Amino acid sequence: MNNSDREFRVSRRAALGALPVVALTAAACTSRRSPDEIRKEAGTQTTPATPQAAVDALMQGNARFAESNPQIRDAAEVEILWTEITSGQTPFAMVLGCADSRLAPEIVFDQFVGDIFVVREAGNIAESPTNLGSLEYGQAVLQAKALMVLGHSGCGAVQAAFDDAKPGGNIQSIVDVIRTGIVGAKDLDDAIVRNVKAVMQRVRKGSPLLTEAERRGDFAIVGAFYDIESARVRLL
Ligand SMILES: [Zn+2]
Repeated sequence: MNNSDREFRVSRRAALGALPVVALTAAACTSRRSPDEIRKEAGTQTTPATPQAAVDALMQGNARFAESNPQIRDAAEVEILWTEITSGQTPFAMVLGCADSRLAPEIVFDQFVGDIFVVREAGNIAESPTNLGSLEYGQAVLQAKALMVLGHSGCGAVQAAFDDAKPGGNIQSIVDVIRTGIVGAKDLDDAIVRNVKAVMQRVRKGSPLLTEAERRGDFAIVGAFYDIESARVRLL
């Protein structure tokens, strides 16, 4: 990190630290705007109404992030926090992502807090009834319109399975699950894509509730690949 980068980050952190006071003052002095009004002013989408619109909103947000042009890391986000999420949550999409520290979905997709219901586990798998239950809750109770299973470049969990590693402990159970879905992979990226597709299949098989919602057209399950180097997400 060079000096100008560091100065930018420090000053940005200081600015963010001051925001709650600004937002509280604004909330006390002005009539409350709807979350969609705030989103329009921030230049982001209004709440997506369909599964396709939900996926489009994630991809448009990722494009803003990849172009270093995020539009919601400012006071508008804090105002949303005070006006919207204190009374409940209405995430429009779910992301099943890897636990990798580089993949914070709200940042990668340039979305507000409260917009994405996130389940994360190494290798972006949802093998346990509890993880599947979390996804079912997001769809059936919170009415999220899409689930994106998100693999990523350089995934250590998939790499371990691809290399047929024997890490032991409870890590082994993750590697064993991934290994079944990547048979025949020619390289790591191919294995990561195969793993995403295998996870999508297993989610559908393990959750009749989500499969039925998808069949009705209320919900979509999509796979995607996040390239850390370019910061771009592409749909599979
Ligand atoms: Zn990973």
